[in-house]
Amino acid sequence: MALHETRREAQEAFADLYAMPVTAEALPKNRMPDNSSDPRAIRTLIQDELELDGNAAQNLATFCTTWSDPEVHLLMDAGLSKNMIDKDEYPQTAEIESRCVQILSDLWHAPAGSNATGCSTTGSSEAAMLGGMALKWRWRERMRAAGKPTDRPNLVCGPVQVCWEKFARYFDIELRQIPLEPDATGLRPHQLREYVDENTIGVVAILGVTYTCDYEPVQAMADELDAIQADTGIDVPLHIDAASGGFVAPFVQPDLAWDFRVPRVVSINTSGHKYGMAPLGVGWVIWRSPEHLPDELVFKVSYLGGDMPTFALNFSRPGGSVIAQYYILLRLGRAGFRHVYEAAGATARALGEAISEMGPFTLLYDGEGGLPAVSWTLTDPENTPFTLYDLTERLRLRGWQVPSYPLPPAREETVIQRVLIRHGITPDKIALLTDDLDAAVKHLLAGPGRAATPRPSFHH
Ligand SMILES: *Cc1c(COP(=O)(O)O)cnc(C)c1O
Repeated sequence: MALHETRREAQEAFADLYAMPVTAEALPKNRMPDNSSDPRAIRTLIQDELELDGNAAQNLATFCTTWSDPEVHLLMDAGLSKNMIDKDEYPQTAEIESRCVQILSDLWHAPAGSNATGCSTTGSSEAAMLGGMALKWRWRERMRAAGKPTDRPNLVCGPVQVCWEKFARYFDIELRQIPLEPDATGLRPHQLREYVDENTIGVVAILGVTYTCDYEPVQAMADELDAIQADTGIDVPLHIDAASGGFVAPFVQPDLAWDFRVPRVVSINTSGHKYGMAPLGVGWVIWRSPEHLPDELVFKVSYLGGDMPTFALNFSRPGGSVIAQYYILLRLGRAGFRHVYEAAGATARALGEAISEMGPFTLLYDGEGGLPAVSWTLTDPENTPFTLYDLTERLRLRGWQVPSYPLPPAREETVIQRVLIRHGITPDKIALLTDDLDAAVKHLLAGPGRAATPRPSFHH
């Protein structure tokens, strides 16, 4: 190798990150580069590109964790190589998963001695699929035993999150989504009777309706299903989609019976990565007792000398967020969760008050009784010179992500805006948002310019 070549390479090794050859050109987008590059340069360029994403700390649309303490970062790093499925190679990771299942069963009042069972998942969507499948299998057993046809299963629910539509489509189930009554934000128990029949595999109740953030009345729904059973003999189980509420209600509304205290509730799902405060990638599903999880669904794989019962849609999966979930549960404890979510609720109610004082808005949910969140509509959309979509766009100029979207059927004509308060969304941040909201409203009231087309909704 010529001397000047060696010198050039030595020079490049010490070059400023932005003076390296790789930074002189745009990053490859369609084809893998022929040669290797300096890792620091590539990382910096990718990080720079990611700056174009929205700022997660100003994302008031998401339920998901956007702040984690340094210990979580350390544990996630340590968990990088742990495969959740390899229970035999990583028995302590498996043990930690099992402890979380037991902690959640206890938190949700599984009856003593019921041997409540469950598992971690990638989120509530996978958890809903597993919970839904167990309902379907159990229903089929019942129908077969009664000598009845098993080709027309249905699932009854109110304004559910899209994961239940997916479940119904993937597993060939008719989704009977009950339309909202004119002034309702969730399913009303008296509506059930018209939709439930002997082909109903279950009813899903939502603890924290995605659209408006209040809770559906689990106990009253169970009472109505009791009454239906008394009248018709049809015994319909309840599954609770507590994606968000599962980590809020036990601390903020401890006397609300929405969980296994209600005998009709057979299974519950939650998202660890939402109000469970774990990093993205973990959810949970728990069954009241093993009889509610049909044996045929559980694979007992003999694996490297171990017996590994699993119920999951995928095989390999990172263990880090399960480990981080265990850390959060231990580190915060019950008092920590209560403190975080009582504070979040107070912040939400203060925002609700500020919004109702601004003039053009009517609160749909004021942050009392459900999730720490606020949702509102324009009081008189016809006579207001701007839409909520305009306001969403205007707030985006300051980096805030505040979604606007229509309510589900049969209230699609009502457009609403929603702000979620979660860990890290402080009163100080909300005071800054309130100032920006106020300024945006004044600007829009003063000037012309209605956004012609609504933007697609981006609620989660
Ligand atoms: C977010 C959410 C889901 C989906 O959960 P993921 O963890 O994002 O898969 C399901 N149901 C409700 C009520 C939700 O809020």
